[in-house]
Amino acid sequence: MVINFAAGPAKLPEEVLQEVQKNLLNYNGCGISVMEMSHRSPSYAKIQKDAISSLRDILSIPDNYKVLFMQGGGCGQFAAVCMNLIGRSGKADYAVTGSWSAKAAKEASQYGQVNVVFPALGKYTTVPPLNTWNLDPEASYLYYCDNETVDGVEFDFVPVPPSNVPLVCDMSSNFLSRKIDVEKYGVIFAGAQKNIGPSGTTVVIIREDLMGYQTKETPSVFNYALMSKNDSLFNTPNTFGIYVIGLVFQWIQRNGGIEGMSKNAQKKSELIYDVINKSNGFYYCPVDKNVRSRMNVPFRIGGRSGNDNLEKAFLAKAENEGMIQLKGHRSVGGIRASLYNAIKVEEAQKLAEVMLQFYENNK
Ligand code: PMP
Repeated sequence: MVINFAAGPAKLPEEVLQEVQKNLLNYNGCGISVMEMSHRSPSYAKIQKDAISSLRDILSIPDNYKVLFMQGGGCGQFAAVCMNLIGRSGKADYAVTGSWSAKAAKEASQYGQVNVVFPALGKYTTVPPLNTWNLDPEASYLYYCDNETVDGVEFDFVPVPPSNVPLVCDMSSNFLSRKIDVEKYGVIFAGAQKNIGPSGTTVVIIREDLMGYQTKETPSVFNYALMSKNDSLFNTPNTFGIYVIGLVFQWIQRNGGIEGMSKNAQKKSELIYDVINKSNGFYYCPVDKNVRSRMNVPFRIGGRSGNDNLEKAFLAKAENEGMIQLKGHRSVGGIRASLYNAIKVEEAQKLAEVMLQFYENNK
């Protein structure tokens, strides 16, 4: 048995994969696969409608918010968010707390004036307190990334923008892992390939009154108002991906909903951080304790800058135990354990045990 700690595309719940397999050649007796079905057929319409209503139920999404399925991934949204909202005032505020929000700010700067709300951090290991942010009351929106996948930095608060400035959030890597109040946001987006499904689909949740401010250059497939008017069927969506996402939503509903996911995420990450904290610096996580991610745990082995031989030996030992895709992102090195919703508590426990053994043998 393999345990897949990948950062994304990542592990999916076994039950979901089994259901996909069972229905692969003949979906619900209709004789064809979901992959072969028209996106305008009643069967597919039901798949998409059910997926949206599951998500609305999981997050208690208010009626004045639309749920869209788009393509182009998280990076597509870096452009789409700006193109759709910048028309409000021509400028936007960005909190840059890691490599993904940095990329988002850079992308947006092609379409409007981007203001970064605190000085560049150098290393991404912290979130400056909100009262130090330099917020523009006329910004078209305030953007932040709730969980920085590469750096392992997760917000422990929801930023409050000036009144009338909508909050935009990249939740790609911690979507549906803790309770959120959708009403605090103008736009939430999440690439599917971490917590909710295969890559190729991005979920966008948007407050209705924010639609219609797009610049005239906005491509139709990135135009929120147009996509919404067409129920995400302006062009052919990733039908199979949306089908799998719908099954993952149902799996979440069967497994305690957001509270179930949140409780497990807390337990799993505590198991790993506990080993790190008690290792006398053998395992080193550079991130401030209050913003350590529950989803992505980055750490070095053999002190602050990591010991290459020890890290290689650890990865080999882990692989030998069936634990794969633990290598850190190439920009930060070391190890990264991603603990998305589909990872079971027992699996995180197993990793914690391997880390403890490795510490005992190499300290
Ligand atoms: N935002 C976050 C937080 C991410 O982790 C990623 C990486 N998957 C992206 C955006 C970019 O997503 P994509 O590769 O789907 O464009």
